[in-house]
Amino acid sequence: LKGKTALVTGASRGIGRAIALEFAGEGVDVAVNCSSSVAEAEKVAQKIKKLGRKSIVIQADVSNKDSVKKMIEKVVKEFGRIDILVNNAGIATVSPSEKLEEKVWRRGIDVMLTGVFFCSQAAGKIMIEQKSGKIINIASINGIVAFPERACYSSAKAGVIALTKVLSSEWAKYNINVNAVAPGYVETDLVRNLVTQGTLDLDELAGRTPNGKLAKTGDISNTVVF
Ligand code: NAP
Repeated sequence: LKGKTALVTGASRGIGRAIALEFAGEGVDVAVNCSSSVAEAEKVAQKIKKLGRKSIVIQADVSNKDSVKKMIEKVVKEFGRIDILVNNAGIATVSPSEKLEEKVWRRGIDVMLTGVFFCSQAAGKIMIEQKSGKIINIASINGIVAFPERACYSSAKAGVIALTKVLSSEWAKYNINVNAVAPGYVETDLVRNLVTQGTLDLDELAGRTPNGKLAKTGDISNTVVF
């Protein structure tokens, strides 16, 4: 991986931050994206630079097509190419389905499904020219199995799994691999906020796994780098 370049969306904290740092540790220059947490993203970029790699912070909402186009252009301008795209940015949209508000539904689908498509399309055009690339989408176990009050989240993540399959079958001829990683629950801000709201019980969730533990961000970042 030494000398490769990557863009990780939603890399200011949580799973995205761990992925960005793990790639940097393997010799990859990493663009760190966030939508608003610029100070946190800058800290991640500083850590990457301390590992001896180049890093830039790009503030962009992945659901905005123009912003995504500019983000990919910036990566190519700064790093010369884009070898790896990790579509990680995500938000929680937990609600009983009968009360799920239209704006929450639309935002969830916009960020977690349309955003993955916009970023993949913009980076894919460059990767097709390069005749190489890796796209890794962070889906979720919620895209595979049912969990109450996750109508929007699960639909978006199931969509990401379907999108991954379509793009991988379509772009394999350009030497582009498209894969998805579907984590179970990982203790991050996203999950901690749901615990605070009383929507999740971590002990109960851990009790459902064979080893009685929740995943750590490093378990997911290892898998993505692999
Ligand atoms: P997190 O700690 O809440 O971090 C979310 C990241 O996404 C932040 O960097 C946030 O930056 C960014 N983001 C949110 N909306 C964005 C947008 N519109 N454009 C660009 N960036 C945006 O979440 P996490 O738990 O690490 O989750 C990361 C991914 O893993 C998500 O796709 C999530 O669905 C998935 N996942 C998580 C778990 C889990 O248990 N934690 C399990 C399975 C899958 P800003 O603050 O700047 O918006």
